[in-house]
Parts: sequence; C-alpha cells; structure tokens
Amino acid sequence: MPAEAAPLIGKWIDYFKCEFKISRNRNSKFGDYRAPYDSKGHRISVNFDLNPYAFLVTTVHEFAHLHTWNEHKGRAKPHGTEWKNNFKKMMQPFFEKNVFPPDVKQAITRYLNNPAASSCSDLNLYRSLRLYDPVKESMVTVEKLPGKALFKLKDGRVFQKEEKLRKRYKCVEVSSRRVYLFSPVAEVEVLNQNN
Ligand SMILES: [Zn+2]
Repeated sequence: MPAEAAPLIGKWIDYFKCEFKISRNRNSKFGDYRAPYDSKGHRISVNFDLNPYAFLVTTVHEFAHLHTWNEHKGRAKPHGTEWKNNFKKMMQPFFEKNVFPPDVKQAITRYLNNPAASSCSDLNLYRSLRLYDPVKESMVTVEKLPGKALFKLKDGRVFQKEEKLRKRYKCVEVSSRRVYLFSPVAEVEVLNQNN
C-alpha cells in the first residue's frame, strides 16, 4: 500500500485485534472480512497482486465491515448505510494525507456519494484504480476485446467473446461449447487469431 497509509492501517490491525492476511489472487474478489466466531477473532484478507491504491481501498473497505460488525453485529446489511458511513469516515484520514492521486480520489469520492454504488466491485472505481496497475503485455479486459476474439484464462481455458447481454458478455468455452457470462472488466489474455 502507499507508504504514508501503512502506519494507520498498522494501528487498526492492533486496535481492532484483527488477523490481517495478504492472500493469493482470487478472481472473484479483492478482499474479504470474516466476523469473529468460536475462538477466532476478526479476520481480513486482501489479494497480494493489487496495485497500492487498490490494495488500500480494499483494505479500508474490509475494515469498514469490521467496524460495522463491532457496532451492529449481524444487524446491519453488508453494504448498507451503516457500512457506507463507516467506509466514508475511515477513508478521511487517507484523503487528508493526500495518499491518492487526484483521479483516484475523485472516483472514490463519487463512489462514496452515490447511494446506489455499494458493492465491492463498483465498475467506475475499479477502472480508475486499474490505471495504476503495472502494464501486463497481453492482458486485457473483456470489454476491450474485439467481437469474436479468442482469449485465455489463467487456468488455460480458451473462450470466444460473443455479444453483450445486459451488463455482461456472453463467451463460449471453445472446448466444451458451453456459454459463460463475463464481467466487462475481467482480465484475460488475448490470443493471436493466427495461433
Ligand atoms: Zn464488502
């Protein structure tokens, strides 16, 4: 994460007695919060391969879940008003320290002020955070692929991009001819059509 942000996150880990883990990449999510149960306390994990700004936003997002759980236990919705207010409040110190570049700060502010944006995967926010990813040569998002393009996932499966259905893209797995729906911002490897 950005160096200026680390001391405060360190304080939160101690203060909330949270087990904070850097996790392997999970395509389905950037981070995760688990509430205490049995003998286990609060647990947060964040994917290791996020860029520093995305890592910090995800970390604060998860700490807002923790804080909301402390205040309301299971009675508050995962991304409801209580969580959102805590996320806003907990983001402030990082704004004050000017940790974020202006475009990221603007995207986060927009996200915080939009009552409809509540999930972990706000597309606009994600797009501006992604601009700070190190450039990976052949990786591209599904929405940037031309129609009918062939692409490969990390697990080696090959798909062909088809049309957009509502918010997601229909893609056909080449070997099984099965249809899958992909998020427009899913990262895939483009395959050269002549291969
Ligand atoms: Zn969440």
